[in-house]
Amino acid sequence: MPFTVLQHKLDERAAQGLQRRRRVLESPQGVHITVDGKDYLSFCSNDYLGLANHPRLIEALQHGAQQYGVGAGASHLVSGHSGAHHELEQALAAFVGKPHALLFSTGYLANLGAVQALVGRGDTVFADKLNHASLNDAMLLSRATVKRYRHNDMAHLAQLLEETHGGRKLIITDAVFSMDGDIAPLPELLALCEQHDAWLLVDDAHGFGVLGKEGRGSLAHFSLELPRIIYMATLGKAAGVSGAFVAAEKVVTETLVQNARSYIYTTASPPALASSLLASLEVMREEEWRREHLRKLIVQLRAGLSGLPWSLMPSFTPIQPLLVGSNEDAVVLSEGLRVRGIWVPAIRPPTVPQGTARLRISLSAAHSADDVSQLAEGLHELAQ
Ligand SMILES: *Cc1c(COP(=O)(O)O)cnc(C)c1O
Repeated sequence: MPFTVLQHKLDERAAQGLQRRRRVLESPQGVHITVDGKDYLSFCSNDYLGLANHPRLIEALQHGAQQYGVGAGASHLVSGHSGAHHELEQALAAFVGKPHALLFSTGYLANLGAVQALVGRGDTVFADKLNHASLNDAMLLSRATVKRYRHNDMAHLAQLLEETHGGRKLIITDAVFSMDGDIAPLPELLALCEQHDAWLLVDDAHGFGVLGKEGRGSLAHFSLELPRIIYMATLGKAAGVSGAFVAAEKVVTETLVQNARSYIYTTASPPALASSLLASLEVMREEEWRREHLRKLIVQLRAGLSGLPWSLMPSFTPIQPLLVGSNEDAVVLSEGLRVRGIWVPAIRPPTVPQGTARLRISLSAAHSADDVSQLAEGLHELAQ
């Protein structure tokens, strides 16, 4: 067998309880889903506003397909850049308060492309230790020198900046940390950037649509409007569809058009997705109740889960991780909920640091107060 070595590795992984498994979803994404033939109340998805199955988005997608067909057929730089893509880029730039925006097929590709286009050998990337995997991969791929600072530790970052001379300096951070739900101190990061003439790339995958007025994201949340910030957000989470964008000064987006390999050498996403995203932006701005309802659910959950042997990590975003500790305990707890018809994923190393396995509870505007009560009851039962 030519692959014995691979089988050994897989067996090792399974023995450690770290095997990842896919489940088959048989319903649209939502808070009530059918998985492998069974119905669940779900706290798993990043569909924070409940838009992934929204009728207006579905209708816009259908119209988009009628107008543009299903496939883009080429990359943006050849013949794949449709009117829908172009209109969406303009709408996104205006929404987040930047002069220009550039669409990417996924957030993973946006991060790879942006970091690789902006820095290279002889430059330095400063990165929070808890950044998303796509930012970590991006900085390695860029071949710049990498300096990682302790999570949200501005003193550590300042020290690393002081020790660095010459070359471009790029600080990269999640705005809302994906496995912790806490927020990067963007004003302090920006002050350090000014002081050291560094650029700041903010990955707002979990803030876009959720934070700030009308869901304009983390920069709006902190009222930050500065050319030095390069803003990236994904469109498959709160926006409910798929894709990502980088918004920045024209000189930055133009540099990406010319140099970002994950932009240049890939087929543009289907134009109909852009049509659907234009509708998503409208719903996002118009329906403030979705964010208000989310905030209420967050307060309810935090109150409802007090007194458990496990504690919620400090977070006021829809990402509410319940810190369990050992991998086995996290899996047992997740299974216990699953048996009760409630689906919450156990997140284990290497996604999170050793000894900090957790249940990653994510809330959606589509949840009801009753749904949150059910989860709290389930956890209190399992605690006994
Ligand atoms: C999900 C995520 C990404 C990747 O976005 P995709 O569109 O899913 O590829 C990037 N950064 C962060 C922080 C994320 O959570």
